[in-house]
Amino acid sequence: MKIAIVGAGVIGVTTAWELASDGHEVVVFERRGSAAEEASFANAGVVAPGYVTPWAGPGMRAKVLQSLLSSHGAIKLRWPLSANDLSWMRKWQRACGLDTYLANRARMQRLAFYSRNRLHEITEGCQLSYERSDGYLVLLRSRREQKLVQPGLGVLREAGSVFREVDADEARAIEPGLNPNTPLWGAIHLPQDEVANCRQFTLILKREAEALGAQFFFNCDLAPLSRSAPTALSLAAGSESLRFDAVVVCAGLGSAALLRPLGVRIPLAAVYGHSISASIKDPAQAPCSAVMDERYKVAISRFGVRMRVAGSAELGGASDTIHPAALQTLYKVLHDWFPGAAALQSGVQQWKGARPMLPDGPPVIGPSGVPGVWLNLGHGSSGWALSCGSARVLADLMAGRATGIDIEGLGVERLLPQ
Ligand SMILES: Cc1cc2nc3c(=O)[nH]c(=O)nc-3n(C[C@H](O)[C@H](O)[C@H](O)COP(=O)(O)OP(=O)(O)OC[C@H]3O[C@@H](n4cnc5c(N)ncnc54)[C@H](O)[C@@H]3O)c2cc1C
Repeated sequence: MKIAIVGAGVIGVTTAWELASDGHEVVVFERRGSAAEEASFANAGVVAPGYVTPWAGPGMRAKVLQSLLSSHGAIKLRWPLSANDLSWMRKWQRACGLDTYLANRARMQRLAFYSRNRLHEITEGCQLSYERSDGYLVLLRSRREQKLVQPGLGVLREAGSVFREVDADEARAIEPGLNPNTPLWGAIHLPQDEVANCRQFTLILKREAEALGAQFFFNCDLAPLSRSAPTALSLAAGSESLRFDAVVVCAGLGSAALLRPLGVRIPLAAVYGHSISASIKDPAQAPCSAVMDERYKVAISRFGVRMRVAGSAELGGASDTIHPAALQTLYKVLHDWFPGAAALQSGVQQWKGARPMLPDGPPVIGPSGVPGVWLNLGHGSSGWALSCGSARVLADLMAGRATGIDIEGLGVERLLPQ
């Protein structure tokens, strides 16, 4: 088949690679000048399948309120909030019930474990080399936090994650750079989880997809799909349309606008996060892999000779305005745990990115309901961890093959009005 993919983030590129591997003629259109320029640009890079869970769950409303009232709280609302944001919040609230949460968590974790395996298969099969390291350490500052994470450990156990509760000494032995002066109660160590550079992987896999014959066209902002000819694509600025046998929408936050004329309503919101990346000044004081500060929900990751601090969740506000408070929290957590590790005098990259988030959690993968138009979108806070599995599932569905996992609840039907 001649297949067009819209979007060259990690989801579009992994999809292009899988479809090209299956022998399809693949053409990718991307509005930016290069791959992985939006949400996939500077994320935390954590691949921890047991921690891939919906943000809509029991008790979340209270957590959000608490966070809004705290100066270093991870979750913030910014003005203006759009009508879309408000409608998304109502849907998010409705998805917080226990049964809905448990169903969505099972769907996401199934996909996340499958995806990690697929990431390893691709990495080994293509002999890819990118910045990565093994192990994930969730830091617990106090006994209270250790108590609060116990239900979460039950989730990890159920999901089949390999993990160990360790005391502060052992945590410091696993990550010797941790600041001895910051109080640490203990940690959760997940040796099979990992951290890796999502953007670098995306750029490398793009080259592999090209070697398989996929073509990439950049600076191509596509117009919304048309009801009369949904698989014919044209530029937003106006151009002759190009016809394909199928179109796969992997356009992250841009997906809702592309699909609207077809009557396919995707309730996506931009949930902004921030990161700072800097060169490592002293490797002995830097993390070996990734740590997560459970209290502030901030991850500190090692990427070769650089390190990245990432966190925060903001709804509303402008995409190009970085609120200093969000960065202050990242710097605070960095100084708490790895004070002398990063070269912060110059060359620090500060980034604000938007998670393409559906209100209930799992992404949407599969047919759109409109013949020829397929979806792989809405991966929210876990798009990197879910990318390789999502792409394989989509390719299998397009081929009419059985998928490697149960895909119940990953289709667009889930989002249709009841
Ligand atoms: C601070 C932060 C930390 C994160 N940490 C992690 C983590 O540790 N682990 C993890 O798994 N995930 C993490 N994520 C989430 C992850 O980054 C995203 O889920 C993932 O990058 C989404 O990929 P995507 O390809 O769907 O979207 P994108 O990367 O945004 O790609 C979509 C592409 O479509 C293009 N596009 C849109 N509309 C059009 C159009 N009309 N025409 C042409 N092109 C178009 C866009 O330009 C864009 O390049 C984090 C996110 C943030 C913000």
